[in-house]
Amino acid sequence: MSKSGICDLANFSSLEWCDIAPHLSCEIRTALEHVLEAQDGAVLSREQSLLLANAEGDDLPGLLVAANELRRDLVGNIVTYVVNRNINFTNICFVGCKFCAFSRGPREPDTYFRSLEQVAAKAVEARNLGATEVCIQGGLPHGLPPFYYRDILRAVKRAVPGMHIHAFSPMEIVYGVELTGMPLDDYLRMLRENGLDTLPGTAAEILDDDVRFILSRNKLSTEQWKQVIRTAHCAGIRSTSTLMYGHVESPAHWVNQLLLLREIQKETCGFTEFVPLGFVHQNTLLFHQGIARPGPTFAEHLKIHALSRILLAGAINNVQVSWVKLNKPLSQLCLHAGANDYGGTLMEENISREAGATAGQYTSPQEFQSLILEVGRIPAERNTTYTRINIKVPGDQFIFEQAPEPEFA
Ligand code: SF4
Repeated sequence: MSKSGICDLANFSSLEWCDIAPHLSCEIRTALEHVLEAQDGAVLSREQSLLLANAEGDDLPGLLVAANELRRDLVGNIVTYVVNRNINFTNICFVGCKFCAFSRGPREPDTYFRSLEQVAAKAVEARNLGATEVCIQGGLPHGLPPFYYRDILRAVKRAVPGMHIHAFSPMEIVYGVELTGMPLDDYLRMLRENGLDTLPGTAAEILDDDVRFILSRNKLSTEQWKQVIRTAHCAGIRSTSTLMYGHVESPAHWVNQLLLLREIQKETCGFTEFVPLGFVHQNTLLFHQGIARPGPTFAEHLKIHALSRILLAGAINNVQVSWVKLNKPLSQLCLHAGANDYGGTLMEENISREAGATAGQYTSPQEFQSLILEVGRIPAERNTTYTRINIKVPGDQFIFEQAPEPEFA
């Protein structure tokens, strides 16, 4: 018998719900059965959500197996990925987040700032390599030309009109508002008119101001994050949603954030997906100053994917595993714990690599397909908003297309 009871945590993926259910504590089993029946996380009380977030022993594999069942019921056996390219147009940043090893002060020797022409050239290269999306984010340098974010959009759309631009974190949006003096709503609508398609729901980390103060004193507040996201959704700009785990936060913070995201989704329907982002600690001040634990444990990685599947069920049904933060075998296990999306090929990942991640800067579509087939699921390339999905089984020319969600209006 292992520490976690009837199964070693690494072997949970071979269990079915009927194998594990009799071994669970009464409250956890009741809560999970309730969600499995309703296929909706809204049926859980906050207390039940907290119980699930603190599950251990046999309850933990029970949570993972239930999340896997729920994933199968809600989104089937397809695992999606998007062919995209990351473009971090500058690493100069004045914000000083303690979990970030990517940013540089303006006088450091290895700073860079990409011109509009260079950003556009990267988008052209991405298109030529089959990308449908560019993900553009960067540091926040003092003295950025006020309309630089708008000008990036113009330059990319001029070079590759059909490219989906997924760009600018809520922190960058707040900076853009400050630089231009425009009202937030007008600013977002101006960006949309100039080519902004969707927004990364990053800069969320943990949406609790006490935790945010520890992670980064200069970062936008929880209220500002919510305001940017709600205003963007209302302006027709959908976004992803994220949570960074494995540093100073507790399971109660996970629950609060997932419930908050559910609440916003109920109002706006603007989130396309949820992405748990494991803290990569190795090269960060947050870890070296002894403030944070050394990243998530194996159990936490699995638990957060399962918990998000369960709490968000019926509200945000796409749960992404961030392969850049995890090794490939662990990312595959997360696909058994509730995740249904592998994220992007990225082509040029910098942020996690500089913090100490070793998963690489690029995962090719062929590698995604192999990883997905290895876990017995069906690989499919998607667009950014999951409205177009093409099944990609190597050696098989058959391509099936479907629109699993209505277009966001
Ligand atoms: S996370 Fe973003 S805002 Fe914070 S220091 Fe790094 S680049 Fe700057």
